[in-house]
Amino acid sequence: MSLHPTVAAANALADDLSALRRDLHEAPEIGLHLPGTQQRVLNELADIDLEITLGKGLSSVVGVLRGGAPTPVGQERPVVLLRGDMDGLPVDEEVDAPYASTNGAMHACGHDLHVAALVGATRLLDQRREELAGDVVLMFQPAEEGPGGAEVMVAEGLLDVAGRRVDAAYAMHVFSSEVPHRHWSSRPKELMAGADTVKITVHGEGGHGSTPFRCLDPVPVLCEIVLALQTMVTRRFDVFDPVLLTVGLIRGGSKDNIISDEADLAATLRTFSAHNLEVAMREIVRVVDGVSAAHGMTATVGFSEGYPATINDPDEYALGEQVVKDLFGPDRMEVREFPEMGSEDMSFVMNEVPGAYFFLGACPPEADPDTAADNHSARAVFDDMVLPDAAAWLAEMAIRRIRLGVS
Ligand SMILES: [Zn+2]
Repeated sequence: MSLHPTVAAANALADDLSALRRDLHEAPEIGLHLPGTQQRVLNELADIDLEITLGKGLSSVVGVLRGGAPTPVGQERPVVLLRGDMDGLPVDEEVDAPYASTNGAMHACGHDLHVAALVGATRLLDQRREELAGDVVLMFQPAEEGPGGAEVMVAEGLLDVAGRRVDAAYAMHVFSSEVPHRHWSSRPKELMAGADTVKITVHGEGGHGSTPFRCLDPVPVLCEIVLALQTMVTRRFDVFDPVLLTVGLIRGGSKDNIISDEADLAATLRTFSAHNLEVAMREIVRVVDGVSAAHGMTATVGFSEGYPATINDPDEYALGEQVVKDLFGPDRMEVREFPEMGSEDMSFVMNEVPGAYFFLGACPPEADPDTAADNHSARAVFDDMVLPDAAAWLAEMAIRRIRLGVS
């Protein structure tokens, strides 16, 4: 297969993108405020004609790249969004590389590659600007790993920054394991779960461990709640619209012979549909209240909203799959059979506008993706060779989607 022109142009950027990625990798920042990363992105974009907006509540960078071709008469001008998240994780890096981080944080999820890929895509689109009869919004986003920078950026006007609402939004994510080297993977519709947190406290009445009849012991009641919740999850939902509940924290008491006043737990709740989330919240309260009441106790239940489910729009997904096949050949595309139960805050964008999200295998070519360290591991290794691929895919998505126009 001869090299696609967008891939050839991206390959010419390989050394620059690799150098940028390694600089970012050495100095990861965490959360909503990434001043060093933001400045580095601004420096990289300085020689490109963009309308730049900086975030107020976070150190985001939004660039609008105006295409040079006129909009056909009587049509609206398409706006396409491309996203790269920028934040690292509180992980002490154990990878033996000259550019390994030493500041106690780590780009263990490969977001350094996402930044470099989006810078690369911006350069490719700048080279092709005259053929674009539409505009591209470049979204450099902090805090994907929490507390959700995409939601803040949407609230700050991201989707209307080009003067018209974004028509389609695209993002990709590198995997240090599981997906074979330089292979792409995604699926239409449900791709990643929504994640919410549940906190439950059972209120009892403490006392001496030898006289439980004089107390209200919340510990066995909380244990009963844990089991009742697992039963509820398997009985109240259609198995083809999955719900997962993991109690990750359980706590009560201070010593073997003391009955405590309270016992509490925290759980993560994963769903794919708003309907199931609503039902789950209602049923959790009912189970907790019912089990507590059966033992003469009360309980409080609190929910904190995390990220919604990431759902690929079928048409935008189809374009993404076609672009992978056209750029890299059909063998490099793998349609996933099942969604992931992980979550991703790009869903705040894709809840508002149609979009597509793809995974890219970035474990080193000599590594076995089945046994390589996963994303978020202190030993996760991501290969720079995927950077031109990622930049080419993002740029080509914008070029093709603009050509399709506004329906
Ligand atoms: Zn990530």
